[in-house]
Amino acid sequence: MGKIFGTNGIRGIINKDLTPEFALKIGKAVGTFFPEKSKILIGKDARAGGDMLIKSVEGGLLSVGLRVSDAGFVPTPALQFTIKNSGYNGGIMVTGSHNPPEYSGIKVIDDNGAEISREKELIVENILSTNKFREVNWDSVISEVNIESNIISKYIEKILSFVDIEKIRKKKFNVLIDSANSVGSLSTPLIAERLGCKVHTINSNLNPFFSARMPEPSAVNLKETAAISKILNADISVAHDGDADRAVFIDSAGNVITGDRSGALLSYWLSVKNPITRKLVYTGVSSSPFIQEFLSKHNIKIEWLKVGSVGISHKLMKDGGLAGFEENGGFIFPEHQYVRDGGMSFALMLELMANEDIPSTKLFDKLPKYYTLKGSVEMHDSNVERIYEKIEEIYGSGKEVIKIDGIKIVDKDYWFIVRKSGTEPILRIFVEAKTEEKAKSLQEGIIKQIQLIRKYL
Ligand code: MG
Repeated sequence: MGKIFGTNGIRGIINKDLTPEFALKIGKAVGTFFPEKSKILIGKDARAGGDMLIKSVEGGLLSVGLRVSDAGFVPTPALQFTIKNSGYNGGIMVTGSHNPPEYSGIKVIDDNGAEISREKELIVENILSTNKFREVNWDSVISEVNIESNIISKYIEKILSFVDIEKIRKKKFNVLIDSANSVGSLSTPLIAERLGCKVHTINSNLNPFFSARMPEPSAVNLKETAAISKILNADISVAHDGDADRAVFIDSAGNVITGDRSGALLSYWLSVKNPITRKLVYTGVSSSPFIQEFLSKHNIKIEWLKVGSVGISHKLMKDGGLAGFEENGGFIFPEHQYVRDGGMSFALMLELMANEDIPSTKLFDKLPKYYTLKGSVEMHDSNVERIYEKIEEIYGSGKEVIKIDGIKIVDKDYWFIVRKSGTEPILRIFVEAKTEEKAKSLQEGIIKQIQLIRKYL
């Protein structure tokens, strides 16, 4: 058995890759990794397969002598928060996050609330591939009366404790919340209500088929949300992915804001709120290099990392800093927890808006204006290095070439990255340029070149 963990946990198609038999084995392997009698909190998003997978995982965990509590439907960050703050040794979240409805996944969480490190993933993979599960007697397979109560309300209280509730309440913000028909609807509307907002919601019913929009909060998938946001005259709108660790904002003019732009603004806000924190932020190499312009004005340094929130989480834990963020809408506020948290990001954004007292579209205008295009091509073959080399040959001369993860090429007024996804069989292509035409022609050109390269590979 090869590598089973991707960029964010284990992903696969429900009942094809992620069968109950496989989930049982994952439960046994993760359970063997944690010491006997460890307390584990499990939860799920609104997807199909949730119960099947979580019950199989739970059986596996119990069979190797662990103690398990089930949080039911829960946003990933709420589960992570509870694990860290209520004395759990770890947890498992069954979620396909932003992936299409036929996918689900399994995230393994450590006692600090973050996903387990790459080193620990290797240990779990090794236990799984060698079938070396802990053997325990019948009297170690125990169910405890151990029901964790009020998970979501405690989580919301903690989020609210970090912001100036009264200041935000005075603004009576008009907001629209799009929870992608999943677990974000259990917490974010309540956060907004407590912050005195006029709250509109769409896609708030739990629906495993995501019939209204796909769970990835991308500009394409949020077209309708943005249109509704404009009709409602919302001061700001927020859209989550399937497990609500991401928050993508739509400004008062109806523009969908990429996560690197909102991340840069929120980082600036944290530097104002906590002036003594080290002025350093971490982001994936797929974020725009042009946000540096804004951050450096506020003396905030960027450290570029490989794409993936787990690496960013662990880097923040190790070296400290203001924040970590991703272009996909993941934002980590370390004082709260070392993981992405869509509800927390939303509360911080409202606080920033209350402080600046200008329309959110003006707020985002503080960042350099570029036209962003995010696309992808299918990628089932593995010779991706050859594609990166060729792209460098074709586009790289005289430009800044960054090879931390995929291939990124930066020029004065445009940049792009081509990178194999860690969660789906696709090659992601992000392009940013001063004009829409330039971005489009650049993206089309790159896709054509990739097709040509693959033809002759
Ligand atoms: Mg997610």
